[in-house]
Amino acid sequence: MSMQGKSAIVTGSNSGIGLGVARELARAGAEVVLNSFTDRDEDHALAAEIAAEFGVNARYIAADMSQGDQCRQLIEDAGGCDVLVNNAGIQHVAPIDEFPVEKWDAIIAINMNSAFHTTAAALPHMRKRGWGRVINIASAHGLTASPFKSAYVAAKHGVVGMTKTVALETAEEPITCNAICPGYVLTPLVEAQIPDTMEKYNMGRDEVIKKVMLERQPSREFATVEQLGGTVCFLASDAAAQITGTTISVDGGWTAL
Ligand code: NAD
Repeated sequence: MSMQGKSAIVTGSNSGIGLGVARELARAGAEVVLNSFTDRDEDHALAAEIAAEFGVNARYIAADMSQGDQCRQLIEDAGGCDVLVNNAGIQHVAPIDEFPVEKWDAIIAINMNSAFHTTAAALPHMRKRGWGRVINIASAHGLTASPFKSAYVAAKHGVVGMTKTVALETAEEPITCNAICPGYVLTPLVEAQIPDTMEKYNMGRDEVIKKVMLERQPSREFATVEQLGGTVCFLASDAAAQITGTTISVDGGWTAL
């Protein structure tokens, strides 16, 4: 499917799933805007590499997705977009009675509130262009829960709820809004959870991966960032024009259990 002539903004895309999604959109011919909160040479270099590899326009725009005004400014600085992928996210694992308040606030702000601000800012541009796709990277934790992830599970369930509402508000327009719910994907975010989980369960790395992480993923395989990028491209395609307000799980069967 070709994304030529379309422009995309992917929040939180200097690593992991966001970077993989930006690369697959660029491979399909879209112009892409990468984002994170840092403004380093290597961030801009990522965009330059994508531009050179796929022959598309690619830019990196720094904006902190924990700040509502910066979320909105990102959309304006990019000049709007056809495809908005809300992907920025962080994680913290702790029992609720020990959950640090600042971590709770940061997770709710980055994983959920940012999607509110970017979507609110992007929709007027999509309406002017007469076409749009809002694609939220939620999680299997947007549909189910796990202990010690209260803020993350709350934020991701919130994103799934917001997805349905935006879909209803745009239902009679050529704009769709959907959420993708990945199971475990081996990215820096997941990598960072391994040491804590090893300590909590007193297990080695391989045991944590197979018995704790992939224990709920019946395929016993991590999903890949390329598979998620492909799912985003599908939702952005004309074939998906009547798919709106729903979730697509890319979780090796996790939510079928
Ligand atoms: P990651 O840590 O590799 O990527 C997260 C991205 O968000 C990075 O680019 C980071 O710079 C960016 N980010 C963090 N704070 C930000 C801020 N304040 N402003 C702007 N950008 C910020 O993790 P990932 O696994 O690629 O996660 C991407 C998304 O996918 C997240 O929303 C996550 O919840 C979701 N997800 C991941 C998995 C998984 O197994 N990896 C599973 C389900 C859902």
